[in-house]
Amino acid sequence: MQNTQLRDILRDAKAQLDKAESRVETDEVRVRFLGKKGRLTEILRSMGSLGAEERKRLGKLANDARIEIEGMLARKFEAVKAAEHALRFQAEAVDVTEPGTEFCIGAKHPITITIEEISRIFLHMGFSVTEGPEVETVFNNFDALNAAPNHPSRERTDTFYITDDTLLRTQTSPVQVRTLLAQAPPIKVISPGRCFRVDTADATHSPMFHQVEGLLVDEDVTMADLKGTLDVFAKRMFGAEVRTRFRPHFFPFTEPSAEMDMSCFKCGGEGCRVCKGGGWIEILGCGMVHPNVLRVGKIDTERYTGFAFGMGVERIAMLRRGIEDIRLFYENDMRFIEQFG
Ligand SMILES: [Zn+2]
Repeated sequence: MQNTQLRDILRDAKAQLDKAESRVETDEVRVRFLGKKGRLTEILRSMGSLGAEERKRLGKLANDARIEIEGMLARKFEAVKAAEHALRFQAEAVDVTEPGTEFCIGAKHPITITIEEISRIFLHMGFSVTEGPEVETVFNNFDALNAAPNHPSRERTDTFYITDDTLLRTQTSPVQVRTLLAQAPPIKVISPGRCFRVDTADATHSPMFHQVEGLLVDEDVTMADLKGTLDVFAKRMFGAEVRTRFRPHFFPFTEPSAEMDMSCFKCGGEGCRVCKGGGWIEILGCGMVHPNVLRVGKIDTERYTGFAFGMGVERIAMLRRGIEDIRLFYENDMRFIEQFG
């Protein structure tokens, strides 16, 4: 009878091991058959009541069964261990031959590059860079800059108002006012930034654009200093061979005011497409700071004078890089932007 029992035990052990899928499950099978209360252990224990001959015979059979089960367990442990490893390797596998996901790192925008180029030239001449907010007071944008109460640029058809007293600045010039209020002379700053005007976008106009403003206030500053500084700027920006000329103009915040032209950097002044045949290119507006503006900053106008200038960044970028439509700057088409970075 115990012969049959041993065969059943072997068959059950084999069946259960076949179903085990992990080391934990395999060990549970081991406990069920070979543990302290395991089925085979119980049989070995029950043999004490048998006669010597019978005990010897069955003892050998039981021992053979134990060895066989131990062998099966050992092979199963190896197998599930290998299977578990294989699963883990599969889960953690990296296919080094698979093509990677392309990572676009972008490029510096040509407006940023141009602002940096302009800033570097003025930094070398001892100017520092300062910035102001894009939402400004009407006072800083117009009143303090000596704009007449009925000046057309104040119209709602020209300027984006936030409230009656605040607006999107139409120029970087309000940074002059902020600087004059915050600093005592000598003052030597440039201020790049975004400006806004009500305008329909076309090849040369945009409701948002960039300017770089400049302000210098000190003792004995004259128009000659203004011309010398801006002439150096034009030569460093466009080439040592360019010449500059100043034409009288009008701005409320400077007196006298001027526009600066430079000889065409492309044709040298003979006339070409870039200069529209004239040989000269209009490049910026400038002038001696109006005493009314200096007085806003409580600056002694008997002792101090100053000059200011402002230029359009888009215009300079378009001239230097041969870009013909201002709208290209704002479309963020990488095929365009990457050409300059
Ligand atoms: Zn030209």
